[in-house]
Amino acid sequence: MKKLISIVVPMYNEESTLEILYEELNKVVLSMEDYSFEYVFVNDGSKDRTLSILKELAEKDERVKYLSFSRNFGKEAALLAGLQSAKGDLVVTMDADMQDPPALLPEMVAYVESGEYDNAATRRVSRKGEPVIRSFFARMFYKLMRHMTDINIVDGARDYRVMSRPMVDSILSLQEYNRFSKGIFAWVGFETKWIEYENVERSAGETKWSFWKLLRYSVEGIVSFSNTPINLASYLGLFLTGASMIALFLIVGRALLFGDPVAGWPSTASIITFIGGVQLFVMGVMGQYISKTYMEVKRRPHYIIKESNLKGDK
Ligand code: UDP
Ligand code: MG
Repeated sequence: MKKLISIVVPMYNEESTLEILYEELNKVVLSMEDYSFEYVFVNDGSKDRTLSILKELAEKDERVKYLSFSRNFGKEAALLAGLQSAKGDLVVTMDADMQDPPALLPEMVAYVESGEYDNAATRRVSRKGEPVIRSFFARMFYKLMRHMTDINIVDGARDYRVMSRPMVDSILSLQEYNRFSKGIFAWVGFETKWIEYENVERSAGETKWSFWKLLRYSVEGIVSFSNTPINLASYLGLFLTGASMIALFLIVGRALLFGDPVAGWPSTASIITFIGGVQLFVMGVMGQYISKTYMEVKRRPHYIIKESNLKGDK
């Protein structure tokens, strides 16, 4: 029997790219005769015609499996749902917008099949066609991430991967609610073959990531995989306490020796606002962790499926 490869694609408002992607995938898949394929398309609560196009495709092509969420749950949830439903011996994850060139698939699969690697991943070596500010913050984020966590998240890494079944199973065994895939991929370990390519611009439609959404995503990533911010908070607190003790002695000493000179309001006010600011910041850091913990203990499902052509299983 041929090995089965599952191709998992999260989709949010991708009516303009979906058919292009489907055609391209078919072309590549045709050239890979030694494998059979299933497409696991996850509709992440799109507000356009994505779902109806998916249904049409599923009707004429039995390889097309679709899952449709009751609302937009985010890309991470869509990826998870896709991975959970994928039955393949190898599982591919890719974006819908052709920024992850399907033509790389045969090469990626070959690396995993060689037995030397458990997964083949891709990274962009350029960020051509992307706003400069966005590239700048993205770079900063990866740098920060590398310093603050003990997992190595590669700059420009995409969520375009081919993974072996054992790797997929270990990813699914991580039950956390706050899923930061780039971190999870790195955390589970396994041998990774990195394939590099130049950035490709979206084939159609537009990016679903605003600056704020990306910022939230970064904070999520850091808080999920690093305790550095909360440790920093304690160090900062410790330092300030020490400094204020010394200041206290100096002030009391000076008052005893030289009497009480005219008090300076501006400096007092500055000190109070500074300490107040630091306290608020530190509380904010703690709040981040507490809110994540809160979400974890609630154990809510990551997504809710409204419709699907996968009968019997979720
Ligand atoms: N996506 C999703 N849910 C979301 C946002 C995005 O499923 O809430 C999907 C989107 O359809 C695409 C992939 O995630 O397949 C990457 O999104 P996009 O291309 O907009 O991101 P970019 O490439 O600009 O980082
Ligand atoms: Mg994209």
